[in-house]
Amino acid sequence: MTGRGWKLPFKLLGIPLSLDPSFALVLPLFAWLIGSQVPAYAELLTAVGLEVDGDALARGITPYLLGLTAALGLFASVVVHELGHAITARLYGVPTKGITLWFLGGVAQLEDMPRQPGAEAIVAIVGPITSGALGALFGTILGNVPMGDGASFVVAYLAITNVALAVFNLLPALPLDGGRVLRSLLALALPRERATAIAGAVSQVLAIGLGVFGFLSLNLLLMAVAFFVYNAGRAEVQMETVRRAFEGRRVRDFMSADPIVVDVGMPIDRFRALKAWKAHPCYPVVDEQERLLGVARMSEAEDAGEDTALRSVVREAEKVRADDDMEAAVRRLASSELGRFVVVDERERVVGILSKTDVVRALEAVQARM
Ligand SMILES: [Zn+2]
Repeated sequence: MTGRGWKLPFKLLGIPLSLDPSFALVLPLFAWLIGSQVPAYAELLTAVGLEVDGDALARGITPYLLGLTAALGLFASVVVHELGHAITARLYGVPTKGITLWFLGGVAQLEDMPRQPGAEAIVAIVGPITSGALGALFGTILGNVPMGDGASFVVAYLAITNVALAVFNLLPALPLDGGRVLRSLLALALPRERATAIAGAVSQVLAIGLGVFGFLSLNLLLMAVAFFVYNAGRAEVQMETVRRAFEGRRVRDFMSADPIVVDVGMPIDRFRALKAWKAHPCYPVVDEQERLLGVARMSEAEDAGEDTALRSVVREAEKVRADDDMEAAVRRLASSELGRFVVVDERERVVGILSKTDVVRALEAVQARM
């Protein structure tokens, strides 16, 4: 969900917007779901005094066109909600890498959470406030601007769903906005890890409750949301452990030093033999001046022919510097393809490897100290 997906060719307030591949499925699905509920919505609108001709709206492909328009409006509303978070975080000096839309809504990827006391609560609460304000705006338009039945339907739909979005996001479950508010407020009185542990426990209970309710009411979407909240809430608690273990530390404190480094001139059969000696999925490759060229994967070398030069299986390395901030490196490592970084000094010479194993070992040491 992070970094992947299709980047849209424009930025909003300097923030890139991407669509997760799941979005390709979700847009038609939502268009269809909303379209099939047009008659029900029309009845609802008539009940609150807006004369809408439900029969006309339910004819032919009209409901699905309305569904598509409403779905696009919904996703645009989600983007505005996320922009609310992003702008507030920016006021605290925290930039946003991007906003991604996926099948359960949107995510603003903040580079970090602002660390000032209570700031996370402010950044979080702005999302539901934005959605609530959008809902009120659409409601006002609906009540005051005369328009056709189709437009009334879409505007009414957006008024209702934005309010629903605000309410849902206020549930005090991490990683929803309400959960962030809860944690941030608890952290005003308690140590941050204690606050996260309590907010995490509340989240698990809520997620399970949501899942059971979704199951009993046969609501698949709700069950999916519950599953997401359960997992993402746990990940949030784990991130706190990561933070406590690595905050303010450098990569060099945790890397495995003196790794096996391969000269680019090494014959490929000798490279393959490394596996029997010390097996790694890949090895850093250096040039004559001992500067990092990239990494060679063992699997790729094994598939290559006898006369292949090692150079031709060398790929760009994912690297960090020994002086880099460890916490940031761990965050990047989580989404790295090979799960290991080559650590280099300021002259591009290899000084270590930072792998997920190193991180796990360090985290186990932290937990043992607790
Ligand atoms: Zn939000």
